[in-house]
Amino acid sequence: SFFNQEKDLKTCKPLVVSGASGVGKGTLLQMLFKQYPQQFVFSVSYTTRAPRPGEVHGQHYYFVSKEEFQKEIEKKAFLEFCEVHGNYYGTHLAQVQKVMKQGQVCVIEIDVQGAEKISKSMPNQCNYIFINAPSTEELRKRLTGRGTETEEVIEKRMKNAEKEIEKAHQLGFYNELLNDDLQKTFKKLIDVLKTFYADLKL
Ligand code: 5GP
Repeated sequence: SFFNQEKDLKTCKPLVVSGASGVGKGTLLQMLFKQYPQQFVFSVSYTTRAPRPGEVHGQHYYFVSKEEFQKEIEKKAFLEFCEVHGNYYGTHLAQVQKVMKQGQVCVIEIDVQGAEKISKSMPNQCNYIFINAPSTEELRKRLTGRGTETEEVIEKRMKNAEKEIEKAHQLGFYNELLNDDLQKTFKKLIDVLKTFYADLKL
Protein backbone atom coordinates (compact mmCIF):
# COMPACT_ATOMS: atom_id res chain seq x y z
CA SER A 1 0.00 0.00 0.00
CA PHE A 2 1.01 3.57 -0.61
CA PHE A 3 0.93 4.71 3.00
CA ASN A 4 2.07 2.72 6.02
CA GLN A 5 1.16 4.92 8.93
CA GLU A 6 -2.06 6.60 9.98
CA LYS A 7 0.05 9.57 11.01
CA ASP A 8 1.12 10.19 7.41
CA LEU A 9 -2.48 10.21 6.30
CA LYS A 10 -3.17 13.16 8.57
CA THR A 11 -0.12 15.31 8.00
CA CYS A 12 1.56 14.45 4.73
CA LYS A 13 -0.95 13.79 2.00
CA PRO A 14 0.76 14.66 -1.27
CA LEU A 15 -0.54 17.79 -2.98
CA VAL A 16 -1.59 17.24 -6.58
CA VAL A 17 -1.59 20.46 -8.63
CA SER A 18 -2.99 20.66 -12.16
CA GLY A 19 -3.84 23.43 -14.58
CA ALA A 20 -3.48 24.26 -18.24
CA SER A 21 0.00 25.09 -19.43
CA GLY A 22 0.57 28.82 -19.22
CA VAL A 23 -1.88 29.27 -16.35
CA GLY A 24 0.85 30.27 -13.90
CA LYS A 25 0.98 27.14 -11.77
CA GLY A 26 4.76 26.95 -12.12
CA THR A 27 5.15 30.51 -10.83
CA LEU A 28 2.76 29.92 -7.93
CA LEU A 29 4.61 26.77 -6.93
CA GLN A 30 7.97 28.54 -7.09
CA MET A 31 6.56 31.14 -4.69
CA LEU A 32 5.35 28.35 -2.42
CA PHE A 33 8.75 26.60 -2.32
CA LYS A 34 10.47 29.89 -1.63
CA GLN A 35 8.17 30.74 1.27
CA TYR A 36 8.02 27.23 2.75
CA PRO A 37 11.20 25.39 1.74
CA GLN A 38 11.00 22.99 4.69
CA GLN A 39 7.37 22.00 4.25
CA PHE A 40 6.90 21.44 0.51
CA VAL A 41 9.05 19.40 -1.86
CA PHE A 42 8.59 19.24 -5.62
CA SER A 43 8.17 15.80 -7.19
CA VAL A 44 10.54 15.72 -10.15
CA SER A 45 8.79 13.80 -12.93
CA TYR A 46 10.37 11.70 -15.63
CA THR A 47 9.68 12.86 -19.17
CA THR A 48 10.62 11.94 -22.72
CA ARG A 49 10.17 15.53 -23.91
CA ALA A 50 13.24 17.63 -24.75
CA PRO A 51 14.37 20.19 -22.17
CA ARG A 52 13.40 23.83 -22.76
CA PRO A 53 16.14 26.43 -22.48
CA GLY A 54 17.03 26.81 -18.82
CA GLU A 55 15.51 23.53 -17.68
CA VAL A 56 17.83 21.40 -15.56
CA HIS A 57 17.94 17.60 -15.48
CA GLY A 58 16.98 16.40 -12.01
CA GLN A 59 15.49 19.74 -11.04
CA HIS A 60 12.63 20.42 -13.45
CA TYR A 61 12.42 16.90 -14.84
CA TYR A 62 14.48 13.80 -15.37
CA PHE A 63 14.84 13.98 -19.14
CA VAL A 64 15.06 10.42 -20.40
CA SER A 65 14.79 8.49 -23.67
CA LYS A 66 11.68 6.48 -24.57
CA GLU A 67 13.69 3.32 -23.79
CA GLU A 68 14.65 4.51 -20.32
CA PHE A 69 11.07 5.55 -19.64
CA GLN A 70 9.85 2.11 -20.75
CA LYS A 71 12.30 0.46 -18.33
CA GLU A 72 10.85 2.45 -15.44
CA ILE A 73 7.34 1.38 -16.46
CA GLU A 74 8.45 -2.26 -16.42
CA LYS A 75 9.99 -1.82 -12.98
CA LYS A 76 6.61 -0.44 -11.85
CA ALA A 77 8.46 2.65 -10.67
CA PHE A 78 5.67 5.10 -11.48
CA LEU A 79 2.79 6.10 -9.25
CA GLU A 80 1.15 7.18 -12.52
CA PHE A 81 2.32 7.96 -16.01
CA CYS A 82 0.60 9.54 -19.02
CA GLU A 83 1.12 10.65 -22.56
CA VAL A 84 0.72 14.43 -22.75
CA HIS A 85 1.12 16.42 -25.98
CA GLY A 86 2.86 13.42 -27.61
CA ASN A 87 5.41 12.88 -24.84
CA TYR A 88 5.49 10.61 -21.81
CA TYR A 89 5.45 11.96 -18.26
CA GLY A 90 5.58 9.96 -15.05
CA THR A 91 5.57 10.49 -11.28
CA HIS A 92 8.22 8.45 -9.51
CA LEU A 93 6.69 6.56 -6.58
CA ALA A 94 9.91 6.19 -4.55
CA GLN A 95 10.42 9.96 -4.59
CA VAL A 96 6.93 10.63 -3.28
CA GLN A 97 7.32 8.06 -0.52
CA LYS A 98 10.69 9.48 0.51
CA VAL A 99 9.28 12.99 0.90
CA MET A 100 6.35 11.65 2.92
CA LYS A 101 8.66 9.76 5.25
CA GLN A 102 10.49 13.03 5.88
CA GLY A 103 7.21 14.51 7.12
CA GLN A 104 6.98 16.93 4.19
CA VAL A 105 4.31 17.55 1.57
CA CYS A 106 5.21 16.16 -1.83
CA VAL A 107 3.92 18.49 -4.54
CA ILE A 108 2.93 16.52 -7.63
CA GLU A 109 2.42 18.88 -10.57
CA ILE A 110 0.69 16.76 -13.21
CA ASP A 111 -2.07 16.89 -15.80
CA VAL A 112 -5.72 16.05 -15.13
CA GLN A 113 -5.50 12.51 -16.53
CA GLY A 114 -2.63 11.77 -14.15
CA ALA A 115 -4.58 13.16 -11.22
CA GLU A 116 -7.58 11.03 -12.17
CA LYS A 117 -5.37 7.92 -12.18
CA ILE A 118 -4.02 8.71 -8.72
CA SER A 119 -7.48 9.45 -7.32
CA LYS A 120 -8.74 6.09 -8.63
CA SER A 121 -5.84 3.98 -7.44
CA MET A 122 -5.72 5.61 -4.01
CA PRO A 123 -8.93 7.44 -3.15
CA ASN A 124 -8.69 10.21 -0.51
CA GLN A 125 -4.96 9.95 -0.13
CA CYS A 126 -4.03 13.23 -1.80
CA ASN A 127 -5.20 16.84 -1.87
CA TYR A 128 -6.03 18.31 -5.26
CA ILE A 129 -5.74 21.87 -6.56
CA PHE A 130 -6.66 23.06 -10.05
CA ILE A 131 -5.33 26.42 -11.21
CA ASN A 132 -7.51 28.03 -13.86
CA ALA A 133 -7.11 31.13 -16.02
CA PRO A 134 -9.78 33.87 -16.02
CA SER A 135 -10.51 33.07 -19.70
CA THR A 136 -9.21 31.06 -22.67
CA GLU A 137 -8.11 34.31 -24.37
CA GLU A 138 -6.01 35.12 -21.35
CA LEU A 139 -4.52 31.64 -21.44
CA ARG A 140 -3.56 32.01 -25.11
CA LYS A 141 -1.97 35.38 -24.39
CA ARG A 142 0.15 33.89 -21.62
CA LEU A 143 1.22 30.90 -23.70
CA THR A 144 2.25 33.14 -26.59
CA GLY A 145 4.00 35.54 -24.24
CA ARG A 146 6.25 32.79 -22.90
CA GLY A 147 7.91 32.76 -26.32
CA THR A 148 9.32 29.24 -25.96
CA GLU A 149 6.69 27.44 -28.04
CA THR A 150 5.93 27.30 -31.77
CA GLU A 151 2.49 28.27 -33.10
CA GLU A 152 1.71 24.60 -33.72
CA VAL A 153 2.59 23.63 -30.15
CA ILE A 154 0.50 26.52 -28.79
CA GLU A 155 -2.56 25.36 -30.77
CA LYS A 156 -2.10 21.82 -29.47
CA ARG A 157 -1.80 23.08 -25.90
CA MET A 158 -4.85 25.36 -26.22
CA LYS A 159 -7.04 22.47 -27.41
CA ASN A 160 -5.71 20.30 -24.64
CA ALA A 161 -6.31 23.07 -22.08
CA GLU A 162 -9.99 23.33 -22.92
CA LYS A 163 -10.42 19.57 -22.58
CA GLU A 164 -8.51 19.55 -19.30
CA ILE A 165 -10.61 22.32 -17.75
CA GLU A 166 -13.81 20.51 -18.68
CA LYS A 167 -12.48 17.22 -17.34
CA ALA A 168 -11.29 18.80 -14.08
CA HIS A 169 -14.78 20.17 -13.47
CA GLN A 170 -16.35 16.78 -14.23
CA LEU A 171 -14.07 14.95 -11.81
CA GLY A 172 -15.18 17.21 -8.99
CA PHE A 173 -12.36 16.46 -6.54
CA TYR A 174 -10.32 19.57 -7.29
CA ASN A 175 -10.22 22.75 -5.27
CA GLU A 176 -10.16 25.37 -8.01
CA LEU A 177 -8.21 28.63 -7.88
CA LEU A 178 -8.74 31.32 -10.52
CA ASN A 179 -5.41 32.98 -11.28
CA ASP A 180 -6.44 36.52 -12.17
CA ASP A 181 -3.79 38.21 -10.05
CA LEU A 182 -0.62 36.44 -8.96
CA GLN A 183 -0.30 37.89 -5.44
CA LYS A 184 -3.99 37.44 -4.65
CA THR A 185 -4.00 33.91 -6.03
CA PHE A 186 -0.93 33.04 -3.99
CA LYS A 187 -2.74 34.22 -0.85
CA LYS A 188 -5.75 32.08 -1.77
CA LEU A 189 -3.43 29.13 -2.33
CA ILE A 190 -1.89 29.51 1.13
CA ASP A 191 -5.37 29.77 2.69
CA VAL A 192 -6.39 26.50 1.06
CA LEU A 193 -3.13 24.85 2.13
CA LYS A 194 -3.71 25.98 5.71
CA THR A 195 -6.94 24.01 5.72
CA PHE A 196 -5.31 20.96 4.06
CA TYR A 197 -2.27 20.96 6.32
CA ALA A 198 -3.38 22.39 9.66
CA ASP A 199 -0.59 20.54 11.47
CA LEU A 200 2.14 22.29 9.48
CA LYS A 201 1.27 25.68 11.00
CA LEU A 202 1.77 27.61 7.76
P1 5GP B 1 5.29 20.62 -19.73
O1 5GP B 1 5.75 19.91 -20.95
O2 5GP B 1 4.69 21.97 -20.06
O3 5GP B 1 6.37 20.72 -18.67
O4 5GP B 1 4.13 19.76 -19.09
C1 5GP B 1 3.04 19.38 -19.84
C2 5GP B 1 1.97 18.80 -18.95
O5 5GP B 1 2.41 17.57 -18.37
C3 5GP B 1 1.59 19.69 -17.78
O6 5GP B 1 0.17 19.69 -17.69
C4 5GP B 1 2.21 19.01 -16.60
O7 5GP B 1 1.48 19.26 -15.42
C5 5GP B 1 2.10 17.56 -17.00
N1 5GP B 1 3.02 16.69 -16.28
C6 5GP B 1 4.28 16.95 -15.83
N2 5GP B 1 4.78 15.89 -15.19
C7 5GP B 1 3.83 14.93 -15.21
C8 5GP B 1 3.74 13.60 -14.69
O8 5GP B 1 4.64 13.06 -14.07
N3 5GP B 1 2.58 12.93 -14.92
C9 5GP B 1 1.54 13.48 -15.61
N4 5GP B 1 0.44 12.75 -15.76
N5 5GP B 1 1.59 14.72 -16.11
C10 5GP B 1 2.71 15.44 -15.91
